[in-house]
Amino acid sequence: MTSQEHRRATGRTTAQIEQVERYAAHNYHPLPVVLCHGEGAWVTDVEGNRYLDCLAGYSALNFGHGHPRLVARAREQLSRLTLTSRAFFNDQLGPFVEALADLTGKDMILPMNTGAEAVETAVKVARKWGYRVKGVPEGAATIVVMEGNFHGRTTTIVSFSDDKIARDEYGPYTPGFRTVTFGDAQALRSAVDDTTVAVLLEPVQGEGGVVIPPEGYLREVRTICDEAGILMVADEIQSGLARTGRTFACDHEDVVPDIYVLGKALGGGLYPVSAIAANREVLEVITPGSHGSTFGGNPLAAAIGHEVVTMLAEGEFQRRAAHLGGVLEENLSPLVRGSGGAGPGLRAIRVRGLWAGLDIEPGGPNGRELSERLMSRGILAKDTHGSTIRIAPPIVVTEDEVGLLVDAIADALAKP
Ligand SMILES: *Cc1c(COP(=O)(O)O)cnc(C)c1O
Repeated sequence: MTSQEHRRATGRTTAQIEQVERYAAHNYHPLPVVLCHGEGAWVTDVEGNRYLDCLAGYSALNFGHGHPRLVARAREQLSRLTLTSRAFFNDQLGPFVEALADLTGKDMILPMNTGAEAVETAVKVARKWGYRVKGVPEGAATIVVMEGNFHGRTTTIVSFSDDKIARDEYGPYTPGFRTVTFGDAQALRSAVDDTTVAVLLEPVQGEGGVVIPPEGYLREVRTICDEAGILMVADEIQSGLARTGRTFACDHEDVVPDIYVLGKALGGGLYPVSAIAANREVLEVITPGSHGSTFGGNPLAAAIGHEVVTMLAEGEFQRRAAHLGGVLEENLSPLVRGSGGAGPGLRAIRVRGLWAGLDIEPGGPNGRELSERLMSRGILAKDTHGSTIRIAPPIVVTEDEVGLLVDAIADALAKP
């Protein structure tokens, strides 16, 4: 792979890029590669070059491109029934929500489509629960969130983002959120008062650069929530569903949140499927008409989601991510300066399962440059926040491919 000379962009690539730049809003800054095919951990561009997909749709593609089981189930459902709306029952929703309730250990599921909608759902449920069950005066609820969070792009969600680019000029902002330092239990304790209804956090911050909180932090959050009688809401949209080597990132500390927020891989990379999972005493605050979605819980989504949950229930993807994560960490470690590596290297790595954040040393290429260098070596990855690269290949990747990936990173750090 790394020895393969990549064909340069031709008119085909340029024409596609120009068309997108001209007719699609510029809300992304993509690498200059135009993909047309994907299978497993690999994608192919219109020039015929192959790349190892180390972004995996921000972990929506945990099972790889076109997983045969998911494609077969989707095809079958596509020809039978795709949409009913929740005005009627459909025969796919029941099996999906029962299986997902089993996987999460929760009583009930509220299905939505995108991750941001699931986060919005959790915020609405937490507030309503706060007023109805906890007795917070209506309109006064606060939710504690974390510095460096990423929970999506709606106006309410960007209201509590501290990413200037994501937030600026979208006000007026939704009130009712308090921000504390991620990983600081004392700060969280101080921020909780009588108006607090929930703590919302990513157990590992994905967009933040795969930021893993100090050992014991999630257990402390659980304790603080129990003592204050508030809901712990874990946004496992990116960290959940096998990525970290466990079903949920919270499992690493044996912590069970009150609400799981799920998305991305729940749709197997085929379709947007999201949901929240919680116990009856929480989710029963939602009554007919008080929340909904035209597409949420549709039969195609439910069929795909059910197949995803069935695959996860078998445990193979979790074991594989844990094992490959060990291989990845072992191979990456020599690139970290101070542990014996030579030449331009990495300042730090953070690895949890098959998920790594790599901080590039000052003096090395920036994140964008490294992504471009990796691209010319047949690796697709994406920078996040300047000098950090996130590595999250589909979990179907092989051990040899993980080796090739690390060789490519070492080579790309050293030279253009
Ligand atoms: C991607 C992501 C979201 C938003 O999901 P969308 O499907 O893009 O709306 C929310 N939370 C986390 C942790 C995410 O990684």
